[in-house]
Amino acid sequence: MNAFLIDAFEYSRHKEQRQGDIAVADLVRLTEELADKSGSLHWSLLGEVDSLGFSQLRLSVSGLVRLMCQRCLVPFAFEIASDSRLILAKDEANADEIDALLADDTVDVIVGSKVLNVAELIEDEALLAIPLAPKHKACPDRAAPERLQGAQKPSPFAVLKNIKQ
Ligand SMILES: [Zn+2]
Repeated sequence: MNAFLIDAFEYSRHKEQRQGDIAVADLVRLTEELADKSGSLHWSLLGEVDSLGFSQLRLSVSGLVRLMCQRCLVPFAFEIASDSRLILAKDEANADEIDALLADDTVDVIVGSKVLNVAELIEDEALLAIPLAPKHKACPDRAAPERLQGAQKPSPFAVLKNIKQ
């Protein structure tokens, strides 16, 4: 796919805003965790400078993907709806400083780059949003529909009996 690169600090400073859709099939690391490559993810990226003067990116990623249930091995749809606030650090040392300063688990500090790959950022976000061991809330019981059918369908003999009457 086309690399989508931004200068992260400039993007924040100019409060740029972009959005788009990206095919799941283009996100190779993500597809390895999924049942299939169908669908696409909608994303939006907003640049900001927060009240403390930190450059930051707000990234939203949403869309339906199909995960494989680890319990019954039947795929199911999973909705990704993720929002994060990524504070931009100048380098690794600066990232540690900001992390310690904020002591806030709801924000992520990343090393900002002049060539930040947005597709990679979207993919990381999606990977974090899906469960490590995906499972149905309640696995479909494959025997259940047959039992139900047996109970509801009158036996041919019962039908015959009704005709005779
Ligand atoms: Zn299941």
